[in-house]
Amino acid sequence: MTRVRFAPSPTGRLHLGNARPALFNWLFAKSTGGEFVLRYDDTDQERSTREFADAIATDLAWLGITPDITARQSDRVSLYDSARDKLIADGRLYPCYETSDELDRRRARARAMGRPPIYDRAALDLTPEQIKTYEDEGRKPHWRFKLKGDPVHFADLVRGEQTVNTASMSDPVLIRGDGSYLYTLPSVVDDMDMDITHVIRGEDHISNSGVQIEIFEALGGKGPVFAHHNLLTDVEGKGLSKRLGSLSLSEFAEQGLEPMAVALMAVLTGTSLPVEPYDSLEVLAQKLDISMVSHGAARYDPAELEALNAKILHQTDFALLADKLSPLGVSTEPVWLALRDNITRLPQIVDWVSLIDGPVDPVIADEDKEFISLAASLLPAEPWDSETWKSWTSAVKQESNRKGKQLFLPLRLALTGRADGPELKSLLPLIGRTACLARLT
Ligand code: GLU
Repeated sequence: MTRVRFAPSPTGRLHLGNARPALFNWLFAKSTGGEFVLRYDDTDQERSTREFADAIATDLAWLGITPDITARQSDRVSLYDSARDKLIADGRLYPCYETSDELDRRRARARAMGRPPIYDRAALDLTPEQIKTYEDEGRKPHWRFKLKGDPVHFADLVRGEQTVNTASMSDPVLIRGDGSYLYTLPSVVDDMDMDITHVIRGEDHISNSGVQIEIFEALGGKGPVFAHHNLLTDVEGKGLSKRLGSLSLSEFAEQGLEPMAVALMAVLTGTSLPVEPYDSLEVLAQKLDISMVSHGAARYDPAELEALNAKILHQTDFALLADKLSPLGVSTEPVWLALRDNITRLPQIVDWVSLIDGPVDPVIADEDKEFISLAASLLPAEPWDSETWKSWTSAVKQESNRKGKQLFLPLRLALTGRADGPELKSLLPLIGRTACLARLT
């Protein structure tokens, strides 16, 4: 049984960049018949809010993800306290009293002397008297995890064999001066407690994984299998972080983009599968394997999203979109089929619906007036169907001796007020004889 987790901090809405690990985890759970846990990493009490947590669930639901289990780290602090006590008892977690100014000065000094700015573990040499002096001054310790310093090896499902050299890292702070936990320890405790089998997350977490594997071992656990995927960048290969606001999922929803297009873009970019429509995430789950993630950048191109969105709309059945189409004035399948090829985003359909329902300002040039009234007089009797346009324009051609653009463009301009748009063959029966006649005269 596999179990994966998506572990956002509820300090903001989801954007394209973090939809990516959410989807990789979801698809992995689907393809392996496992479970997907939504775990809010909300130990940062100041920045985490319940509103953001709820909004994240809404964003995930919009993408098509419904968690099997939801958990909050803020409900689980006693577990972290037990892990903390064990690590302290085992000498792997130690108190440090340096202020951030002191640490900054030490780092600057190390750099000036050409040494890497790694924490020097001075706190391990403090005498009980020194500690007492600090405590009397009112200083509260933060706590660091004592790394073993041996290279950590793990087999990554995306990147193959990985080595993290923890000897070149500072002992990580696991607990802040105010006693609150940074995400590193709670994450390991939860992954163990919740039997997480696979940790799938961005490659910015690789060195964290090295540290966390040491913590798993220190707590007597067996680490999960790791998979680190490449991160989405802009077309030039730069991080997405600067424009995250415009890439939030709620913004995409507001702009009328299809959740499937956004999901496919978030997950397929930078993999060996082409970015193209799939009927459902379940179908995609059967095709996509985490090993198909490429090692290079995953460049996100907004134009590609737009094109994918259009492609999806052009092949989506009316029934699947009926709920969204009815408020836009599209309530029957023939209307949808007549208009769908002319939109790249759903809300644009409103504009085309007006060609059917009106009001339309017919455009009739002076030199076409006679031609248009001739055409009006040749309008066949109803019932109309998809052949009506052809038979009507053949008759008009015959009587007027016009052909090609000279024949068709004035008719389009008179019937719709525009030089381009959906096929008149499909529009004509939807507009109906009465309205057509009115527009032509
Ligand atoms: N809260 C962390 C993040 O959003 C979780 C990383 C992880 O998946 O372990 O970066």
